[in-house]
Amino acid sequence: MSEDELKDLDKEVRKLKRIASEWASQLHDLVEDRLPAGYEDIHPIAQSTYDACKAGPTPTPASPRRKKEPDMDPITGLTRGGASWTPTFLVKLDQKTCIGCGRCCKVCPRDVFDLIEREADDDAYDDDEDNNMVMSIANALDCIGCGSCARVCPKQCHTHESLPLNA
Ligand code: SF4
Ligand code: SF4
Repeated sequence: MSEDELKDLDKEVRKLKRIASEWASQLHDLVEDRLPAGYEDIHPIAQSTYDACKAGPTPTPASPRRKKEPDMDPITGLTRGGASWTPTFLVKLDQKTCIGCGRCCKVCPRDVFDLIEREADDDAYDDDEDNNMVMSIANALDCIGCGSCARVCPKQCHTHESLPLNA
């Protein structure tokens, strides 16, 4: 298409848009200012508005905006110096490998753990161990995700994960 043809097309499109807009304004004014007396005019003006819109260019539908999902953002904190850090929270403790030494409970700054007696019928436990205590998670929701428990555990029993805000 030549430049002149493009210009003509653009002019025609603007003209059709203007006509559609004028009819839409008439319909708007009728509804706002001339009811109920102008009731009979609703249909012809609405039809003309519709026809004018159909004659014009088809509007391109706006692409749907991706909804932000703030709840999927991980919980983060700030250091004293203002740097961001992401806590990893205790989500699991493997009692099969735990030897009940109590280190994680001692180092935890929150009331997350409870050292309990191992079930007598716990098949997973190695009977050679003379300690029949095992660590359990008592208050998972008190965890602040510092990771200290995992650092002192000699058996790597703890599993930590960062968690979304809505977890
Ligand atoms: S991550 Fe920190 S607060 Fe959470 S259980 Fe371990 S030591 Fe306690
Ligand atoms: S530090 Fe590890 S082995 Fe010791 S009690 Fe805690 S989970 Fe069990």
